[in-house]
Amino acid sequence: MTAQPAHPTNAANLANLANAANPADAANPAKQIRNVCLLGATGSIGQSTLDLIAAHPQRFRLYAAAAHTDVEGMLRVITQGRPSVVAMASPDAAQALSARLVAQGIGGVTVLSGTDGLNTLASAADTDMVVAGIVGIAGLSSVWAAAKAGKTILLANKEAVVCAGALLVKVCAQSGATILPIDSEHNAIFQCLGLQYRCFTRPLEVRRLLLTASGGPFRTWSVQQIRAATVAQAIKHPNWSMGQKISVDSATMMNKGLEWIEAHWLFAMPMDRIQIVVHPESIIHSMVEYSDGSTLAQLGAPDMRTPIAHAMAWPDRMSAPSPALDWAQLSALHFEQPDPERFPAIGLARQAMQAGACATICLNAANEVAVAAFLQGAISFGAITDAVDDSLQKLAPQMPAPQTLEDVMAIDQELRLHLAATLGLPAGAASGQGRGAGGGATGSGGPGTLGGPGGTVASIGAQA
Ligand code: NAD
Ligand code: MG
Repeated sequence: MTAQPAHPTNAANLANLANAANPADAANPAKQIRNVCLLGATGSIGQSTLDLIAAHPQRFRLYAAAAHTDVEGMLRVITQGRPSVVAMASPDAAQALSARLVAQGIGGVTVLSGTDGLNTLASAADTDMVVAGIVGIAGLSSVWAAAKAGKTILLANKEAVVCAGALLVKVCAQSGATILPIDSEHNAIFQCLGLQYRCFTRPLEVRRLLLTASGGPFRTWSVQQIRAATVAQAIKHPNWSMGQKISVDSATMMNKGLEWIEAHWLFAMPMDRIQIVVHPESIIHSMVEYSDGSTLAQLGAPDMRTPIAHAMAWPDRMSAPSPALDWAQLSALHFEQPDPERFPAIGLARQAMQAGACATICLNAANEVAVAAFLQGAISFGAITDAVDDSLQKLAPQMPAPQTLEDVMAIDQELRLHLAATLGLPAGAASGQGRGAGGGATGSGGPGTLGGPGGTVASIGAQA
């Protein structure tokens, strides 16, 4: 392949991309291969999805991929999946990636940057399916763009739902977007609700949802031990291999608090009809109890490729390279109640949900900032839930209820600034929306589109 100049204009990038699309695909209603837009491609969900795309080349193609700053990771994604277009939230990373593509003589990849670049991919006409695997509220904007464009969204990014649940329900209803949960518990519930079920509707004759939790690495630890836990201890999950933020969330059990709110929105169930059950083996991924007393459970090895494969193939099934359960080795499955004293995060999630949308944004923002501070060694493990508690009491009541996506973003940003000051962090350390990374237009001839609704191109790209 021949390398081309590093920084053609947006217009040139978009023209190249349009030429790269196969017109026969669009004209053929029976098109078998679905174009995947993978947001968070360099992360744990990203890698699991890439494995599945590679295992099913006759069904899926990596059309687009997005990440934050990890240039080397994105190069590996490009080499593995050969997407037509990629976006880096950080313009500096986009520049560096473009240069690397030129240097390595890799052609046929358009590079966009900034939040608008990600939104463009998520809403592009050629995108058939969006995998929302960005961590944190940084993923909300692209989930929103995909929802507005009526896409099928495989949702891992629970923070987007926690911060903007009610608004997402509305925008999906308006556009006809389909949400398929891939968070393992929510995917399990979705499977147990049957093929007719659609997210955001109240399931019929369901008495309770049972959301299982592994209990994390500190399930049997004392309060004192937990509060003094180190980063290495917190990110060592007993059953799952995941990104650092969700691993810490599993250790505080804030992950289950966020998932409780996520389940409330996805399945239109009141919080008190969703029960959290600690199940240390992580074999049952969640359950649905029907009004006739039947309880259906979904079981499997703790491997995210199973729920992702389910959602990719839905309403069909397809194979995944996940290990099968070894029933001879499964001598017992255990269940217990979560302990509110040692794991206050679950109670904080309930409080936030009862207090309203602004408080759930606050819960999430405080948690994201505090987890990042813990991972950087700036605060103790115990201080994470202290910071969330403090923010919920002091900051959430001062904020107005959000009416729009922009309100959600503004409330989140303001909370982060307060929190950074409270925790003694530099203001930049608390930025979470990828904003610092968003949208500078270099050599751009103005915004353009990828042929789909929504989404403008923020910045440079390189056809290399
Ligand atoms: P990860 O840390 O492994 O990967 C995160 C991805 O998000 C990376 O590709 C990173 O580049 C991208 N990203 C981070 N900040 C960004 C920004 N500002 N703009 C654009 N991209 C950004 O995380 P993960 O474990 O894959 O988790 C991703 C999401 O999926 C989280 O919301 C998590 O709660 C959810 N989830 C993960 C798992 C799992 O097994 N990993 C399971 C269930 C749900
Ligand atoms: Mg989960």
